[in-house]
Amino acid sequence: MRKCIRCGAEMEENYKITSGYGIVIRPEKGRNAVKLKAAVCPQCGEASIYVDDPDKLIGRKKA
Ligand SMILES: [Zn+2]
Repeated sequence: MRKCIRCGAEMEENYKITSGYGIVIRPEKGRNAVKLKAAVCPQCGEASIYVDDPDKLIGRKKA
């Protein structure tokens, strides 16, 4: 669950960020691109961008 940094309400997640096939973030070196997603606060409209799998993006092994 993601809380709004502005008002503390529970945010609605999994909104797609699209421009054609979507926008990805990738490390400067490496191929671990992941899709950017957005969460929106239903109370105040604050929006934040996140990734589902930061371990994959960073190249960090899961514990
Ligand atoms: Zn909010």
